Amino acid sequence: MKALLFTNPSTLWSRPADDGGENPYFEIARGTARETLRDGTCACLVEQGIPFPDARPLPLRALHGKVSAATWNRLGEASELLYWRTETRFCVRCATALERDAKERAMRCPSCGGLFYPRLNPAVITLVTRGEDVLLEWKTHGSCWGLIAGFVEAGESLEEAVVREIREETGIEVKNLVYRRSQPWPYPNSLMAGFRAEYASGEAKPDGVEIEKVQWFNRKNLPAELPRPWSIAYRLLEEWR
Ligand SMILES: [Zn+2]
Repeated sequence: MKALLFTNPSTLWSRPADDGGENPYFEIARGTARETLRDGTCACLVEQGIPFPDARPLPLRALHGKVSAATWNRLGEASELLYWRTETRFCVRCATALERDAKERAMRCPSCGGLFYPRLNPAVITLVTRGEDVLLEWKTHGSCWGLIAGFVEAGESLEEAVVREIREETGIEVKNLVYRRSQPWPYPNSLMAGFRAEYASGEAKPDGVEIEKVQWFNRKNLPAELPRPWSIAYRLLEEWR
């Protein structure tokens, strides 16, 4: 059976491939928690020992660009499911140890019958423009300029979350929101919805807590420290610049 073997939900076993990339697929599956991915690959946790002599553990993100886009998506799917398995071990109603349901992708409580499915936390990320300028923020302890992003709160629509996050983090009001694209964000279990919005009013000012700096950059003069190429932030910037 073809398998992806993780030591924890964000680190997996891999070995160098002939083409200079990485090969994270192994033929024999051995592990504790296991899930079957959409393409039939098995995702397993191998928490102790080296499963194959030539395998070494790598952070999930280190494999970007070193595997195909299809494999990269499978790695994200595996990571999210294994995170769910490691974080969903006891019933939140009665504290009984959960069991994997035989039919549904869910953990079942043998005592009260509760079912617990993989949970995604939706988040929004927005490219804010003002003519030829884009609004970028530098998070506290951050390492690059990024777009304004945050989690959707209870009772909020995606659009309301966009407006609130930008207002809270930068003091800016926006208008003309347009949905652009989305991306699974398995760090550990989010789904990013990407928007574009136009400046309406306000002075760009960081909240001073989560955000250290906010600044307008001209389309022709973007900073060198941009988000990684595989991120939705980078793709939103690329399609605009
Ligand atoms: Zn229960």
